[in-house]
Amino acid sequence: MTAPEKTKLAHFFDTMDDFLRDGYTSPRDEYIFTDDNEITEPIQEIQIENRSAPLDDESGNSSEPGDVSLEKIAEEIKGCMLCGLCEKRTMPVPGEGVHHPLVMVIGEGPGADEDRTGRPFVGKAGQLLDKMLGSIGLYREKNCFIANVVKCRPPNNRDPLPEETSACRTYLSRQIQILKPRMILSVGRIPTQILLNTKEGITKLRGTFTEYMGIPFLPTFHPSALLRDENLKRPAWEDLKVLRAALSEIVPGYHEESKG
Ligand code: URA
Repeated sequence: MTAPEKTKLAHFFDTMDDFLRDGYTSPRDEYIFTDDNEITEPIQEIQIENRSAPLDDESGNSSEPGDVSLEKIAEEIKGCMLCGLCEKRTMPVPGEGVHHPLVMVIGEGPGADEDRTGRPFVGKAGQLLDKMLGSIGLYREKNCFIANVVKCRPPNNRDPLPEETSACRTYLSRQIQILKPRMILSVGRIPTQILLNTKEGITKLRGTFTEYMGIPFLPTFHPSALLRDENLKRPAWEDLKVLRAALSEIVPGYHEESKG
């Protein structure tokens, strides 16, 4: 059985459980399953093969044994049919960036440009996101990884449905497990509410660190919200400064680099 199949089954049992409790939804920890065949894979061989690969590719991304699993997840996502979003997508968008990033940025889901290219945050909002990150010394080519809670575009950019986010959740959890980001920056209401399992608004949640899967987790506004409302730029900048200060505390040399 694959990890997404196991997660789907677990969510099914949860739904049944909630139903039997008259709709009461109990808070649950994140499921982290592995594929059955991962257990029997010749891990040693995979690692040896990988060591012969160059340590850094042209984009500066490092190749490590963990790459095998990250690539495998991307392959699974490309063939994924766990929810209805697969029917209308052009390209799934697994995410991109470096391994063991300082920051993993988590957005909502691909838009039209991302669906066309298979890359996250490449449209107008993505260009603003790159500028926001760059202003504090963060770059997807150098020290970030960018992903979304759903990997396929919801038609007409509607909010992803609960069954879509829960089907896709295992991919994100496994990516986080492998990437081991030092911090997570969640952009926008949707990813923040889903990951923190809350209905609280982004205005309340932004700018304050909590934890997700044991990793410091900071929500801020989605860049497309800043494009719609200039007044959100100042608070978003305040949030970026909070992130920069936190990174400065744990990453030697980051503070100087972050000033450009
Ligand atoms: N908005 C998102 O939330 N994610 C993308 O990848 C692009 C736009």
